[in-house]
Amino acid sequence: TYVVTDACIRCKYMDCVEVCPVDCFYEGDNMLVINPSECIDCGVCEPECPAEAILPDTENGLEKWLELNATFSAQWPNV
Ligand code: SF4
Repeated sequence: TYVVTDACIRCKYMDCVEVCPVDCFYEGDNMLVINPSECIDCGVCEPECPAEAILPDTENGLEKWLELNATFSAQWPNV
């Protein structure tokens, strides 16, 4: 899965949302998150993010962000 990280906070360009084929972005007041159980790992959103906030969860040190994406995507509205 891909995860949205801290570079998205107070930024929220919506380019990623436009391209996601499975609509798995969710929106909070300050950032977007990806629902890890809906993401099909296509990678299309990563280069679309001007803030470079979206990363594959295979990168080191993203455990906390993966957990936050999972938690908040269950609480926030789909976009
Ligand atoms: Fe959507 Fe693909 Fe990005 Fe996953 S990797 S959030 S499916 S665009």
